[in-house]
Amino acid sequence: MPKPPEGTLKPEIYRDVLDTIVDGVYFVDAERRIVLWNKGAEQISGYDTGDVLGHCCADNILCHIDGKGKALCEEGCPLAATLADGLPRTTDMYLHHKAGHRVSVEAKVSALRDVAGRIVGAVEVFSDNSVKMAALESVDRLIEESLIDPLTKVGNRRHIEITVRGRFEEMARYRWPFALVLCDIDRFKEINDAYGHAIGDEVLLMVSKTLQGAVRSFDFLGRWGGEEFLLCLPNVGDVEALTAITERFRALVAASSVRLDGQTLSVTASFGATLATREDNADSAFRRADALLYRSKEGGRNLTSVG
Ligand code: GH3
Ligand code: MG
Ligand code: MG
Repeated sequence: MPKPPEGTLKPEIYRDVLDTIVDGVYFVDAERRIVLWNKGAEQISGYDTGDVLGHCCADNILCHIDGKGKALCEEGCPLAATLADGLPRTTDMYLHHKAGHRVSVEAKVSALRDVAGRIVGAVEVFSDNSVKMAALESVDRLIEESLIDPLTKVGNRRHIEITVRGRFEEMARYRWPFALVLCDIDRFKEINDAYGHAIGDEVLLMVSKTLQGAVRSFDFLGRWGGEEFLLCLPNVGDVEALTAITERFRALVAASSVRLDGQTLSVTASFGATLATREDNADSAFRRADALLYRSKEGGRNLTSVG
């Protein structure tokens, strides 16, 4: 783009070109006053050039808000930020259509400089984002419905299987070690029988939160089914380390509780933990972890068995 002479912003030289594109484009001067508004902007926002020209972008016209409803005009205005630091920005936000509804847009903001390099204004290019946002929301919903356990919000069994398969592929390709840990709450049926299913659900949630809080950010926790959880721990390659980690899980679960009116309710869990090997597949590793878990149950529960 040709640069305007020193200290000036001459948007009219771009208008014909900008009117040919479907994106909304508008220029503001250094005081955030709108000095050019193209046809695309009219189309997307419903505001004609006459409605907005000379107004400050914060004058309650477009009233950009973010996805949480926070008004961006007073603080968080990308145009103001770019006028201040000269850096380009891309923001997903919602503008106010003249008819009243909100339109989802992706806005790209860049500084406009004069020949001397001074910031004399900024340009915002915005495109109707609603199709993209709707698609992203459906993807989020699909992931939620197909891979997340509705009660505990950790991965479900399918998510576990996909994750573990991925870890096996990494092990085959790069020799990255990992471990699998099965966790089964002890005598959980008695909790349900004594306190009811709803309290049982609270206990399940409490155990899953405790485990989630005990793992590293790149570890994976999933609900294997019922009162059983599976943890997949990348980069754990020796029995000593795995024993220490699994003992920590066991101790943390035993030290957690849910509050019922006036009393606290605690549970313990038993663990079976195993290092995956290059000879394994998901089935053989799960079976080994399950056999080790059984050993912990046989040994009296609230125990870990590692192999
Ligand atoms: P063990 O120490 O041998 O593991 O005994 P346990 O009672 O924990 O094992 P068992 O397999 O006999 O019982 C598991 C119970 O978990 C039975 C089932 O009703 C309960 N359960 C499974 N899924 C849920 C759930 O989503 N919510 C609740 N509240 N209970 C569940
Ligand atoms: Mg069980
Ligand atoms: Mg159990």
